[in-house]
Amino acid sequence: MIRMNSHYKKLKASYLFSDIAKRVSAFQEAHPEMPVIRLGIGDVTRALPEACIQALHKAVEEMASEATFRGYGPEQGYAFLREAIARNDFQSRGCAIEADEVFVSDGAKCDTGNFQELFSTDIAIALPDPVYPAYLDTNVMAGRTGVFSDGRYSGLIYLDGTKDNGFVPPVPDQPVDLIYLCYPNNPTGATATRAQLQEWVDFARAQKALILFDAAYEAFITDPAIPHSIYEIPGAREVAVEFRSFSKTAGFTGTRCAFTVVPKDCKVYDEDGAAHSLHALWNRRHCTKFNGVAYPIQKAAEAVYSPEGKAQVQAIIQGYLENASVIRNAMAALGFDCVGGDNSPYIWVDGRSDSWEFFDRLLKNAGVVCTPGAGFGRCGEGYIRISAFNSRENVDKAMARIQKALA
Ligand code: PLP
Repeated sequence: MIRMNSHYKKLKASYLFSDIAKRVSAFQEAHPEMPVIRLGIGDVTRALPEACIQALHKAVEEMASEATFRGYGPEQGYAFLREAIARNDFQSRGCAIEADEVFVSDGAKCDTGNFQELFSTDIAIALPDPVYPAYLDTNVMAGRTGVFSDGRYSGLIYLDGTKDNGFVPPVPDQPVDLIYLCYPNNPTGATATRAQLQEWVDFARAQKALILFDAAYEAFITDPAIPHSIYEIPGAREVAVEFRSFSKTAGFTGTRCAFTVVPKDCKVYDEDGAAHSLHALWNRRHCTKFNGVAYPIQKAAEAVYSPEGKAQVQAIIQGYLENASVIRNAMAALGFDCVGGDNSPYIWVDGRSDSWEFFDRLLKNAGVVCTPGAGFGRCGEGYIRISAFNSRENVDKAMARIQKALA
């Protein structure tokens, strides 16, 4: 008899996006005269930068000739991309990250989800609330939690993100082994200061713990005081892994390319307390289970770092940030407290009511789709997330409708 992994039974079915889809299609059927404007899910809307398209075409042509054709590539990524990443994203900011510490992959979702596989099932995990759901569900699947009740799994240490702490929870007052951090944050759009990240790095070093730092939205940081990478923080090379993605940076959500940085100084410990190289473990896992990202896609990603690519990416990000500012100003003018939207594409709005009730109000009265904060954890109740990923025209139209409906 084939038996299931019964930890899957503990998973709380995520109805968030299917519930949203049902409510939206019911509204659309009832009101065909008012097309909905979607500011809900975090998918980008603008086309790939021209530099990436050109590189993609050229690489596809190379695959058409035996002289330039490529078969299996290095699982960790081609040197041309790993070197461009190390130089542009890290060394240029004073972070001592080498190309062979960069692992190219097909997504930060996969990497953040897969990384927990390297650790024992009985470690103590600190997880923010609200949170990007992949961190939580992959640990539930691996059996690191008890059952779900009252909005939470037993066996986890939740880091509450609240208005009082600006949605940047402080270090816990109990020992932990693995810490998930995400800045700029999805869903709240909050960012962490250098001092706040230093506290986490110091805490992790004292505990011999590890930080999994998700910087998928790093490209949206405009404030020069906010660190772009955890490796800008002294000591982080010993205790932090960083996840990045071309998805939101350069519109690769459908093209798929991301990377994870595992410094050679990071250690992981066995049952006798002996230290092992985390880099070696991840390399082993990556080479065993992953075949590398397609050559043309890696060439397209490399083009993000060309002078034209940088300018084009900057223009796309700037466009989304202008949308974010329009949304945040409009919601603030209506009297709602907002976080995010300045160094992030997400605006986290205190709806002063039940998340789903506020979602329904925006849908029914304005034909605008957002995401109820309760879908990201217990601390998200009462909030909604509005995404800036849409055209400026649609954002202006959505905000005008909301102003009319709620003023
Ligand atoms: N990390 C965070 C915080 C995200 O919000 C997302 C996507 O929404 C991802 C990772 C996924 O990135 P990728 O498209 O590279 O899998």
